[in-house]
Amino acid sequence: MKSTVSAEPGHDPYVPDHGDLSYDVGHYRLELEYKVDSNQLGGRAWITATARDDLERFELDLYHLRVSKVTVDGAAPAKYSHHKSRLVVRPRTTIAAGETFTVVVAYAGSPRPMPGLDGDAGWEELTDGAIVASQPHGAPSWFPCNDRPSDKATYEIELTAPSSYVVVANGVLETSRRRAGTTVWTFVESSPMATYLATIQIGRYETSEAGSSVPVRTVHPVGSGAVVAETFGRQADMMAFFVRLFGPYPFAGYTAVITEDELEIPLEAQGLSVFGSNFSTTEWEHQRLIAHELAHQWFGNSLTLGSWRDIWLHEGFACYAEWLWSQESGGPSADDQAETHWKLLDELPQDLVLGDPGPDLMFDDRVYKRGALLLHALRLTVGDTAFFELVQDWTTRFAHGSVTTEQFVALAAERCGADVGELFDRWLRDVILPELPPA
Ligand SMILES: [Zn+2]
Repeated sequence: MKSTVSAEPGHDPYVPDHGDLSYDVGHYRLELEYKVDSNQLGGRAWITATARDDLERFELDLYHLRVSKVTVDGAAPAKYSHHKSRLVVRPRTTIAAGETFTVVVAYAGSPRPMPGLDGDAGWEELTDGAIVASQPHGAPSWFPCNDRPSDKATYEIELTAPSSYVVVANGVLETSRRRAGTTVWTFVESSPMATYLATIQIGRYETSEAGSSVPVRTVHPVGSGAVVAETFGRQADMMAFFVRLFGPYPFAGYTAVITEDELEIPLEAQGLSVFGSNFSTTEWEHQRLIAHELAHQWFGNSLTLGSWRDIWLHEGFACYAEWLWSQESGGPSADDQAETHWKLLDELPQDLVLGDPGPDLMFDDRVYKRGALLLHALRLTVGDTAFFELVQDWTTRFAHGSVTTEQFVALAAERCGADVGELFDRWLRDVILPELPPA
């Protein structure tokens, strides 16, 4: 019998030692309780998965938290071990390829951000609450998972927290039930979601809702409603503009969470984004990030890279969305933005390959800007109509799926002619910054 004992866990060199290719998760059900004062998280995860190959063993990712019990299809496994961030499970009998199985993991502990090649990511305590910002490798800091972005699944997230806090997670809030000083919040995410986009936000928040064909909410510290209404007030307009350019919004709604604490950077999750209070201004440097995080709902969250080397597919598009919003909102045109950023980039070291920047440079600002410039160069080459039709075809054809650079290049060639291949080669593979075509 063929065994896939090590089916290349840790196969992605950008995020080594995460994920297992030998099975695919279909659904996560998390039933958790969080004590804000002591930063204690505990509960159970039900993971329903399908074996890709015959499985004598399989691995889950879980960082720092203690596992107290594991079952596979209701029975204790032959063995399990939890070493570093890998939970290795040997079921009693081999799970046949194609078979669906359910693993239940009981666990608890004091969650903390998980270290990685690009820094720390994951569950993070705030002064009075918590956030989860997992890109790219932080998901195991709060639940056991198959932590590779190509394994998207649906979720039910139930979290019990003290009733003085508001909890936000991905998907639709199904119920919130009070129970003796605590509230049980249940969210259902019915669109497939990558592990790094799963999130929980906990704080002393209130919610404001903007009128739009898609529900657009802000969740912010109590008393900050007026400031947030001014600084996040264009989100409904951004939503309408991006729907026109990029196609239908891929999720049930969109929530911007603004924390009381200052945060280093904003970050996207599926159906929501989180911003520190320091981003709540009307300055362009902050408005562009509000547009950027919203654009990730199409580029990154609905269409999700299968390998982290393709990060430009997320960041290039999100950065280009900033420039489009700049023009739409009365600022410099996309042409002007592209010209400005081309000049800035031209003065920086030319040592980055956009199509495979490496783990150290995957979130380098040059990936964002050069990715956006590639898209602008493509637009100038093929014309506005062909460009935006391509973008909408991209977001429609691959909605809620996993994508690669090769797929985008192939779609562009199919729609715009094979000669665009050379443009992609120069922008994606050459180190030297290519010239922009004339506007
Ligand atoms: Zn981004």
